[in-house]
Amino acid sequence: MSEPSTDLPVVVIGAGPSGLAAAAHLQSRHVPVVVLESGPGPGSAVSEWGHVRLFSPWSELVDPVAEQLLSGAGWTAPDPSSFPTGAEWVSRYLQPLADALGDVVRRGTTVTAVTRQSRDRLVSSGRDEAPFTVHVRTPAGDEHVVARAVIDASGTWGGPNPLGGDGVAAIGEVDAADRISHHIPDLRDASTRQRYAGRHVVVAGTGASAKSALIGLTALAKEEAGTRVTWLVRRASVGEAFAGSGQDELPERGALGQRAQAAVESGPVATLHGFRTARVDRADDDRLTLTSFDGQIVSDVDEVVVLTGFRPDLQMLSEIRLDLDPVLQAPRQLAPLIDPNEHSCGTVYPHGAAELAQPETGFYLVGMKSYGRATSFLALTGFEQTRSVAAAIAGDHEAAARVELTLPDTGVCGGAGLFDDESAQGGGCCDAPAAPELISLGVPSDLLRGAPQ
Ligand SMILES: Cc1cc2nc3c(=O)[nH]c(=O)nc-3n(C[C@H](O)[C@H](O)[C@H](O)COP(=O)(O)OP(=O)(O)OC[C@H]3O[C@@H](n4cnc5c(N)ncnc54)[C@H](O)[C@@H]3O)c2cc1C
Repeated sequence: MSEPSTDLPVVVIGAGPSGLAAAAHLQSRHVPVVVLESGPGPGSAVSEWGHVRLFSPWSELVDPVAEQLLSGAGWTAPDPSSFPTGAEWVSRYLQPLADALGDVVRRGTTVTAVTRQSRDRLVSSGRDEAPFTVHVRTPAGDEHVVARAVIDASGTWGGPNPLGGDGVAAIGEVDAADRISHHIPDLRDASTRQRYAGRHVVVAGTGASAKSALIGLTALAKEEAGTRVTWLVRRASVGEAFAGSGQDELPERGALGQRAQAAVESGPVATLHGFRTARVDRADDDRLTLTSFDGQIVSDVDEVVVLTGFRPDLQMLSEIRLDLDPVLQAPRQLAPLIDPNEHSCGTVYPHGAAELAQPETGFYLVGMKSYGRATSFLALTGFEQTRSVAAAIAGDHEAAARVELTLPDTGVCGGAGLFDDESAQGGGCCDAPAAPELISLGVPSDLLRGAPQ
């Protein structure tokens, strides 16, 4: 069986941290590559949360091979022990990296579909030998890009989960879209501040983003009279949301939990447990009323901030043969390692091309998108994935199989998959005695200074 011509480029979808790392690894192996980015520049998704400070230090945010490429272009590495904002991650790393990669990074280019050339998903004949056709939309019109292999690093930022407690939009949620945001509010921005000041704001979610929003909004409440917050927690208890504060090997993420706990305890915050939103109604005074499936009601709501995670866009892959876990929508072999129903301490077992490969030969999901609906993705994971996948595409199977990753342990159990009573009892993998095998880190030692041990 022959493969598509190696003269054809590998298409990487998305110029985020994972996609650009993939391109750097492929270029270092002299494999032709094209990166297709829908946004106006590299790191477009990260730019949208540019005001948020990362909990990872610089030492965990720079891919080692990308760093080599950048160093050759005269790049000055940031202090590895400091913590950038999303905007700084873009301006000091992703933008220079895209510049160093050159014109292989195309902006304003949205991938709408990936297919096997001239074949829908039913056709098996000659499938593995056929190149891919990547369908793209640009301001100049639609076009096809022919590819030897495709790495989908398009993330999940474009697919926030709805407020609806059963995974689909609540009744009335779409009609109330003008009052619902899926972003951590940037309260230093005057218009955003005005939107929330003096208002009754509902925050839904228990992850790091929801904690950041709670901290910001309770601080706003201290300065702007009348501001109050209702926090909707789907689980029966918030204990798990604050758990891990002292155990997280990412100290900034642990500190976030502690600060959020203090904010909730001291601020004007009403917490409602077991609240799974069923409907959103607009009252005569234009304010919203939220009703849960079990009949709880929150009324007089001005704004809703929904931070309940993300889901992957699989529509553009409908003609590609995928083998995804039915729960997480992540590659089937990766799913057990990241499933919040079984394992959500954040310590991810090393994995690479073998776990990410799909029945569609030459197609890989990497980065945030490879986690499907699971949370706790770290950029470091994406760097290791792309190193391994690039090696596999280049035919270096020994390097592809090698694992060069150690991830910090978050000590935080319980993910979105846990239902009320389960989470209240703790459990999950924090109780499990077996630690994953952690293997030597493929990050240069100078970048390791300041990294959590
Ligand atoms: C608020 C917040 C804080 C975070 N903090 C940390 C942290 O401290 N440490 C950490 O390790 N991780 C953190 N993360 C996780 C972080 O998102 C990832 O580490 C990283 O951004 C994932 O990179 P990615 O390249 O996989 O996806 P993304 O960053 O989402 O990049 C995907 C890219 O693909 C593009 N794209 C999407 N669809 C298409 C399409 N159809 N065609 C073409 N292009 C497309 C997007 O515009 C985007 O540029 C944080 C996430 C959030 C939301």
